[in-house]
Parts: sequence; C-alpha cells; structure tokens
Amino acid sequence: MNSAPNQARLLQCAIIGTGPAGWTAAIYAARGLLNPVIFTGPQSGGQLTITTDVENYPGFAQVIQGPWLMDQMRSQAEHVGTEVIEDIVTKVDLSRRPYRLETDQGLVFKANTLIIATGAQAKWLGLESETRFKGFGVSACATCDGFFYRGKPVVVIGGGNTAVEEALYLTKFASTVTLVHRRDQLRAEPILVERLKHDPKINIVWNHTPEEILGDTEPVPGVTGIRLRHTQTGELMSLKADGVFVAIGHAPASQLFTDQLPLKEGGYIKVSPGTPKTRKKGVFAAGDVSDDVYRQAVTAAGMGCQAALDAIRLCAEDAHSAAKKAQK
Ligand code: NAP
Repeated sequence: MNSAPNQARLLQCAIIGTGPAGWTAAIYAARGLLNPVIFTGPQSGGQLTITTDVENYPGFAQVIQGPWLMDQMRSQAEHVGTEVIEDIVTKVDLSRRPYRLETDQGLVFKANTLIIATGAQAKWLGLESETRFKGFGVSACATCDGFFYRGKPVVVIGGGNTAVEEALYLTKFASTVTLVHRRDQLRAEPILVERLKHDPKINIVWNHTPEEILGDTEPVPGVTGIRLRHTQTGELMSLKADGVFVAIGHAPASQLFTDQLPLKEGGYIKVSPGTPKTRKKGVFAAGDVSDDVYRQAVTAAGMGCQAALDAIRLCAEDAHSAAKKAQK
C-alpha cells in the first residue's frame, strides 16, 4: 500500500484491465519476477463475464462458461504472485518514464512498464429513444437481462457474432427473437449463422436499421416495439417487442490515452505490427484495446503474453544498464 497520500509506489510492471489479455500478461510477468500489479477496472474480468457458453477457447473439450474462465485466469495469476488492486485507473501520465498512474481511490503509482489491456465496451446506436429506454427495455447484454423477457418478443440489432450469440441465447427466455440487420448477409461465423437459421424461434429482418425505439413512459417506462427503416427503399415498418438488445460491436476503452499515444481509426491504440509495442518505451497494448481485426479471447491472451515478455526483456535491459553504470 502507499505509505502516504500521493506518494507514488514504484512498480516494475503495472497492468490495466482484467480480461484475457490482462490476466495472461499478469501470469507471465509474475513468472518473470516483475511483481506485477493489476488494476481490475470497472468490470473485473472484462467482456467474458457477460458471456455464457465459450466453446472456442482451446483446452476445454466441453463448453465452459465465460465468468468461470475469467475466475480461473484470475486465480492462476494470483497463484503465481500477481497483486490485484480492485480500483479504476483514472489518470495516466506517459510524458516520462517511470509512468505515473492515479486511481479512483486516490492511490498513486509509478511504473517502469505499463501494459494496457483495457478492452472494449459495447457500442450504442445513438438514438435519443435508445437513451430514454436504456435499462427499461433497451440493453446491450442478453446474459444480464435476458431473464426479464420470459415469454415476450424481443429484437436484437446487429449481424456479427455478438448479435447472433445474443439472439440464440435469448431463445431460452423470449417467445420470439427477431434479428434486425442492416445488410442482407451476416458477418457472424458460419457455424453460428447455421444455428440461427435453424432456430424456430428466430426471424431475421434484412436490410433495415432502427429508426426509433417505441415505448411508454407512464406509469413506468417500458419498450413496446421498434420502428425500422429499409436501407434501400426508405420504407418504414414497426415490430412489437418488449426488449431491444443492441449488439452492434464494441469500441476500444482507450480514452485514458487519447492525447498520449497514437490511435488508429475507431480509437484502437496503435502498436508496431506483430508486437504489442506502442510509441512509448515500456508501454504495451494488448487485446481488444489495440486489436481491430481478431478480437478473440485467445488472441487477446496471446497479446497479453507478448506484452509481458517484452516488459520482462526491457526490465532486464534496464537492470543490465544500471549494473554497468554502477561499475563505472
Ligand atoms: P462486429 O463483428 O463488429 O459486428 C457488428 C455488427 O453490427 C455488424 O454486423 C454491423 O453491420 C452491425 N452494425 C454496426 N454498427 C451498426 C449500426 N449503427 N446500426 C446497425 N448495425 C450496425 O461486432 P461483434 O459482433 O460485437 O464482434 C466483435 C468481435 O468479437 C468480432 O471479431 C467477433 O468475431 C468477436 N466475437 C467472437 C465471439 C465468439 O467467437 N464466440 C463472440 C462474440 C464476439 P455490418 O455487418 O453491416 O458492418
């Protein structure tokens, strides 16, 4: 712990974010004797904690649950010596090394190496009606809210893996699930598309985008449907629904670094190709915060491993230089 308010504790390796990238970085950094400190952030465990079935993480012949997988990663990281701090990093100063970090609880750290594994958050449509009904029928998480729609019709927006998985998951509860996609072809993996097309509870509405979420505000706010616009003809149509699940992708959580690191289009942190190295020495980015291509739990874990190995190498170089200097 910090000995006095605002007195910075020096870390060899700080890791921000506790998705697969963060925990894997922690496991490698701890085994590389960097005594890593990992900050959990607002959603410990990241996006996998709001997923159910995971069947593409290697090593598990049977389907596993996302939250369970994240618990296992955390236990493994702690077992090898990672220090976990349940706090949110609110400020980072990358102007000089060691880099300064401040947390929501007022703790201050300096870090010789920093691994950014802050992941990504769900995107929203940006409709005024969406904001009005958020939490009252509009959701971005079927696993969190699906239960509330037992026997009721729901709509899912999007055409990627998330949308299709959400739609399939919602069939457990809802009377019908309508997937609305803005094109006539899904982006999701073929195996998921096959399941979707064969599910008797699911209908697909192609070539439509949401125009307005419909609902009542009195006596209590609640969604009653959605108005859609045909992308080619402009024609409007309405669907009845008690719930609207928005599943249109994710935005990287890179806000802390906007003015300090070069970002790619969409806000992803730029790294040297094939590495997690950012423009700043000792600052690495791993997982969905820098990856706009693969975005898988297993690729995030791989990048976390790369980041920790690079951090270990850099700390060894630092130690070597310091020893040489001392000899002079
Ligand atoms: P995504 O692949 O980026 O798909 C987003 C979908 O939303 C696209 O179909 C897109 O349409 C649509 N969309 C975007 N903005 C829209 C808007 N304003 N209005 C209407 N529709 C809009 O995002 P994702 O499905 O969240 O997946 C993100 C990454 O995680 C992907 O790499 C995915 O493979 C991965 N993932 C993997 C798994 C798994 O392996 N089990 C599960 C979930 C996610 P267009 O197609 O027209 O662009």
